[in-house]
Amino acid sequence: MTHRLLAFFAHPDDESFGLAGSIAKLAAQRIPTTLVCATRGEVGQISHPALATAENIGAVRERELRAAAQAMKLDRLILLDYRDSGMEGTDENHDPRAFVNQPAHEVVARLAQLIRQAQPSVVVTFDPQGGYGHPDHIAIHQHAVAAFHAAADPSYMPALGQPWQASRLFYNVIPRSRIALMRDQMATLGEDPSRFDRFAERAWPDEKVHLTVDVTGQFAAKWQALMCHRTQLGDEHLFRRIDVDTVQRIMGREHFALAWPEPTPDLRLETLFDGLTRGPQ
Ligand SMILES: [Zn+2]
Repeated sequence: MTHRLLAFFAHPDDESFGLAGSIAKLAAQRIPTTLVCATRGEVGQISHPALATAENIGAVRERELRAAAQAMKLDRLILLDYRDSGMEGTDENHDPRAFVNQPAHEVVARLAQLIRQAQPSVVVTFDPQGGYGHPDHIAIHQHAVAAFHAAADPSYMPALGQPWQASRLFYNVIPRSRIALMRDQMATLGEDPSRFDRFAERAWPDEKVHLTVDVTGQFAAKWQALMCHRTQLGDEHLFRRIDVDTVQRIMGREHFALAWPEPTPDLRLETLFDGLTRGPQ
């Protein structure tokens, strides 16, 4: 099977925090990468009023995402045009256009069709907690997992294309140890680090990480991608207030848990495609 990666995320910047280094690494190996982003992050924060307004934030964040995609040398970007559902417990959750309010069968059909068209060997999405619990992260996780299996099922909507069974489904996870590192940095700055506590509760157990990708060699590209998301990474962001070497210590590794096929308890992989046969390009 030809090595190809297809990633499903919810907002512009999810990819840069999550796997920009891995994308850059795969680009250097000429392994094609596609990112599907469900929304334009229309209700995300605006770090500085000069950057965007509530009216144009979606368009601004799309530009930020396209710039980040170039920085990490992503091959293909697909925007699904859903609306950001906002943080848990906000009024935006109830907007009928919000991603979380779209019928599951419709979203799953779109994602399954994309899988059948792209024919990836590896699919990546958020873990069931969406990293830290954002409703859109949880929604894209649920839809992507359903689509991963539906795409392979010959009885599922044949009109969407030939069935496609990808070889692996990974969750791109934030291990608890990374949250601890960020908490330490917050404390070092003399600030209250307790806001990281609720992230820690939802973060992924380190012992259930099956693959850690060292992206220190790609960190320049990852940092450049992150910096494209200016509306999200303003001057007050933790990563802008600590030195870049420390950011690299926190973000220089990317973590994945194998979701399918069922991992053995002691599974440790070296790469996303470790052990998969690489067919002709
Ligand atoms: Zn997000």
